[in-house]
Amino acid sequence: MTSDVIPPGSTIGILGGGQLGRMTAMGAARLGYRALSYSPEADAIAGQVAPHMQGAYDDTAALARFAAEVDVITYEFENVPERTVAACARHKPVRPGVRPIHFAQHRLREKEFFRKAGIGTADYQPIATATDLAAATALPGILKTCTDGYDGKGQARVATRDELVAAWARFDRRECILEALVDFQCEVSAIVARSLDGQTRCFPIGRNEHRDGILRTTTVPSGLPGGVLAEAQRLGQQLATSLDLVGLVALEMFVTRDGRVLANEMAPRPHNSGHWTIDACATSQFEQLVRAICGLPLGPVDVLRPSRMENLIGDEAIAWPRYLADPTARLHLYGKAKARPGRKMGHVTYLVPE
Ligand code: AMP
Repeated sequence: MTSDVIPPGSTIGILGGGQLGRMTAMGAARLGYRALSYSPEADAIAGQVAPHMQGAYDDTAALARFAAEVDVITYEFENVPERTVAACARHKPVRPGVRPIHFAQHRLREKEFFRKAGIGTADYQPIATATDLAAATALPGILKTCTDGYDGKGQARVATRDELVAAWARFDRRECILEALVDFQCEVSAIVARSLDGQTRCFPIGRNEHRDGILRTTTVPSGLPGGVLAEAQRLGQQLATSLDLVGLVALEMFVTRDGRVLANEMAPRPHNSGHWTIDACATSQFEQLVRAICGLPLGPVDVLRPSRMENLIGDEAIAWPRYLADPTARLHLYGKAKARPGRKMGHVTYLVPE
């Protein structure tokens, strides 16, 4: 270990106050770290498990006070404004840094970054003007807003040019990207940790199922051929190295029917498809993030038990007594007061009996 080590007992600052921040704080506590989260909400769920500071993302004085309280800063979602992350970086090390957020916040920049890094994607075209619309060839496709889209929001499937024109109008003619529809056999994700000294370690590849643009389940092992898994891991590691990040990055990918692996999107933070690691892997993704950003050795990523993670969305979490009664289920609830349709309220990881 080098002198860059931030030892247990130090405080990890987390920008964002949602479930990923909450579980990062819990992973930090396991290794004897303190956590302090920062976000605009008064009742942030991360604040139920560790101290939380309420502040606006553009309040530089409050951000400076936050930074003064912590030893290293990370973020739990990529839509924290780039300027906020840059403001924090003037005071304390921010890992994974400003650069990954710059690309992850904007779908077109992100796709261009993938291509430059040698990571294949679906065909895509920028849609910023009526001329772009007229020239579009990636049909049938999915029109996505370049910014502010998540969990299927800001997306429309379009089969024809007329549908494309209508969808772009619905998105207020904002800057968009049109992606050709990928005929995939399944979706997978690679979650890669990269340490201060540039070592990478990828968690076993999970197989993901989405419904209405929202992740529903992740299964590990994925049952996919070794060649596909090796390629998915290679692309994830290639991404972490190209971003030169310290921390975690998740790369969501499509596996096409002919066995090619194409990148869809990235998230430089813990990822919903990595929640299985809490109960079924030698190191959880949250602990791995803490290890990476604090300069500790990365943890082992062996699968302890085959597992399937299921998200509890909207009112599905009402059935919590049923999950508690199931000896194969590990229940996680996020402490959110109100269940709204599409809102992630918790998850269950089923451990496959041996
Ligand atoms: P995204 O927000 O880009 O991750 O998209 C959410 C989900 O929509 C993905 O996980 C896929 O199931 C589906 N999807 C997104 N882009 C494409 C595409 N180009 N082709 C086929 N399905 C897609």
